[in-house]
Amino acid sequence: MRQVPRAIRRAIKVSVGAAAGAIACAVVGVGGADGAAVLASKPSLPMTMVVVAIAALVITAVVRRVQFTPPSARAQRVSFWLAAATDLADLELALTLIAGGHAIIAITGGLSSPAYPVLYGLVAFAMTVLARPGAYATLGAALLLEVALLARTGITERTVLASGIHGVFLMGAAAAHVLLLRGLTARYRRRRAARLDEELVALRESAKDYRLIAAALGPSSRAPRTRDEEERLLAIGGVGMIGDSASWMLSTLKRSLGARTVALLWIDDDGERIKLKEVCSDADDITETPRLPNAGVLGAILRDRTPLLVAATKPGQLPYYNGGRAGVALVAVPIIEGVHLRGILAADRDAGFTEADRDLLADASAQVLRVVQSEQVFRAVERAKYEHEQFYQATAMLGRALTPEQVMETAFDAAAAICDYDVAAIALYEKDRQRHRITAVRVRPGGEGIIDPAQLKDLEFKDNAGLASMVVKNRHYLPSGGEPREVSAPIYTRKVKLDDAKSLLVLPLLCADEPVGTLTLVARAEKRFGKDVREMLAVIANQVAISLENGFLYRRMETMATTDGLTGLTNHRTFQTKFAEMLERAARHNHKVALLLCDVDFFKKVNDGYGHPVGDEVLRRVARVLQEVPRKIDIPARYGGEEFAVLLDNVDVAQAKAVAERIRIEISKVVVDTEKGPLSVTESVGVAAFPEDGRDRATLIERADLALYHAKHTGRNRVVTWAEALAAKTKKAS
Ligand code: GH3
Ligand code: MG
Ligand code: MG
Repeated sequence: MRQVPRAIRRAIKVSVGAAAGAIACAVVGVGGADGAAVLASKPSLPMTMVVVAIAALVITAVVRRVQFTPPSARAQRVSFWLAAATDLADLELALTLIAGGHAIIAITGGLSSPAYPVLYGLVAFAMTVLARPGAYATLGAALLLEVALLARTGITERTVLASGIHGVFLMGAAAAHVLLLRGLTARYRRRRAARLDEELVALRESAKDYRLIAAALGPSSRAPRTRDEEERLLAIGGVGMIGDSASWMLSTLKRSLGARTVALLWIDDDGERIKLKEVCSDADDITETPRLPNAGVLGAILRDRTPLLVAATKPGQLPYYNGGRAGVALVAVPIIEGVHLRGILAADRDAGFTEADRDLLADASAQVLRVVQSEQVFRAVERAKYEHEQFYQATAMLGRALTPEQVMETAFDAAAAICDYDVAAIALYEKDRQRHRITAVRVRPGGEGIIDPAQLKDLEFKDNAGLASMVVKNRHYLPSGGEPREVSAPIYTRKVKLDDAKSLLVLPLLCADEPVGTLTLVARAEKRFGKDVREMLAVIANQVAISLENGFLYRRMETMATTDGLTGLTNHRTFQTKFAEMLERAARHNHKVALLLCDVDFFKKVNDGYGHPVGDEVLRRVARVLQEVPRKIDIPARYGGEEFAVLLDNVDVAQAKAVAERIRIEISKVVVDTEKGPLSVTESVGVAAFPEDGRDRATLIERADLALYHAKHTGRNRVVTWAEALAAKTKKAS
């Protein structure tokens, strides 16, 4: 019961403006404004008020139309009046404007009014801007009021002629604007379509070029590309190739069948909807929406997967035409790959199709499938090539890395070429001690906050229930799907927390099937380590393991080449290089450098009395003192035999002498247990300093040696500087 008044209220609300406009028109039509003529000697007051009222109405209508918002689509579906609200708002504006226009004409001289162009303008405006009901109402009202004015003025030859001219102008203005508008819209549409076509062509060309270039050039001469981008380009190129081959085939089919349209329809990924993939047609009512709302008569093929011959389609049955086209002959065949229905190939024309036509279409459908399949193979080959290149680059990079540190950094680079990780860490595994130690960590931009890298670096832990330990034990990466939610175990230890990481992979570093460590990759985003990526990374990880082993070997060789085997001190050759470097630096920065030359006293007696092995042990113990007493930056070296050298950086002669004294005292405290009882030794030290005692290496060594010689000859177990030796010598000479 309450619905009725509400509907009436609604009807009144939306139509009251249009009604007011119509009344205004009627008032003007019957001459309600005529007496307000500005040219009259005394304008009639009531009629002037009518004109003022109409003017107010016009202003109100314009404001209302500008502020008008159409009801929601849902509201429009529910109520007739709400659905008509927009048209009624247009009507209100149209009728009041025309009433206003004719009122102006009435007060400025009627049929001979100079204000007529205002009316033409109003009609043109309505035709361009308003929807059809408003536009036609404007023209209609203008014409009707024109007839009313003619009637009021009186029908004579002259008035009919004037009115006729006005009518022609009104309709002319309307027609001109309709044509203009149509032309504009059409031109705009054409331009937009052309631009779209151009873009498509450019896209395809670039994809094609890319494939040609990619095939012709080696990996190093191209800009690095991410896997996603590679896939995208391959997909565009692939679609382009399918499109080219398919459209050529469709046009050939169309010619040989004399068809109006040949269409290739493809089943959507969801397997339910069909898409118009390629079409070759003479008709201009092919649907522009690529995704067809329903399969129409072709639904039978989706169901039965058998060819279809239809003599005359019923209305709305052909889905790829806008109106559905009735009464045309149709032949359609399914495109089946293995057990899957991939699409439909269809042709239509006015004359009926034969079974031979159907067989031709079936052959063509097989060809379409081959095009798609060969494109899939092509893409697989291209993808394999891309992966091959990544491997090649990663392997080449790893091959260039020498030290274990370089290998680990390169491993992070190589992994980044294959996948998008945020944090990576390498833990080395010591099999004998069953211990893991994290030796390298990399946080890529954006990866901050997932794991604390400071907490990771140098973290050491024993074999446990964590992922890294399991991976080392099983020699296979974990989690198997690359996602942390698959496993509850921690990566390293319980203390290391993973905050909001959605992708995780711990890979074993296997060298000759022996685990040397683990490579862990973490990413915040989901699905970063898909199956392909995991398999590529597993291969790279083994490459990393081999390079790491080589790195360790290289480091051992380097150590052997630069240190002395017996004492572990810097050897003579390396001592000379480091001495040269230190002097160069000191000269540049105005620093001092001191050189100590040490020689064990009566060492021959040790060898002779206790045997060579005891002599060797004495040398090792002396070397240990030389390592412990000076600072870290100083360099002790085995100069040769039982002679040692120590380079002291940024130290003057007095300080150097003090260090030498400490060394001398410490050595004298050393006791070596032998079969013949405890053994102690002493040593003598010669000191020379840069720059006061000499500026070059040879002079400094010579003078330290001279000081040492002096120490030997003045009782041994002493420290002598070159200056002291020189003073003693001149004293003796004088
Ligand atoms: P001085 O106090 O004058 O230095 O007497 P010295 O006996 O130490 O004489 P000198 O420095 O000439 O002796 C060097 C001896 O050191 C000769 C050699 O047998 C011994 N020697 C050199 N290298 C080694 C080594 O690597 N191991 C052992 N056990 N002895 C070595
Ligand atoms: Mg000696
Ligand atoms: Mg000696």
